[in-house]
Amino acid sequence: MATETIFTKIINKELPSDMLYQDELVTAFRDINPAMPTHVLIVPNEPIASNADVTEAHEAAMGRMHTVARKLAEDEGIAQDGYRLIINCGENGRQEVPHIHMHLLGGANVGPMLIRQKSS
Ligand code: 5GP
Repeated sequence: MATETIFTKIINKELPSDMLYQDELVTAFRDINPAMPTHVLIVPNEPIASNADVTEAHEAAMGRMHTVARKLAEDEGIAQDGYRLIINCGENGRQEVPHIHMHLLGGANVGPMLIRQKSS
């Protein structure tokens, strides 16, 4: 079990957020510092630190994150034009909050996937 982060406090409604969805497996809320017109975070209620900690036991929650992303994209009106889902992992992945989360980004063209870097 990972150490609890600010996201657990949001899930438990101990901290305010613009929460869009919650069920027994996942919670979705708007990012406090949106990078796009729509920027939603979808997180498992269980504090799994990162994708490096995901096991078969988490498959239901990981799958639910995707179906909730699809539903919220429809609700937000960004499904037709498309959107990007991002899960950062660890230091090189530039993950800031150690509670695995999926970014749902859309409402405009998100640009290139990433800055290309050649292997040395
Ligand atoms: P990461 O870099 O870990 O993939 O993304 C963390 C995201 O969490 C960032 O986009 C950041 O703006 C967001 N974030 C950090 N603290 C809070 C918070 O207290 N509330 C909300 N709603 N988002 C947060």
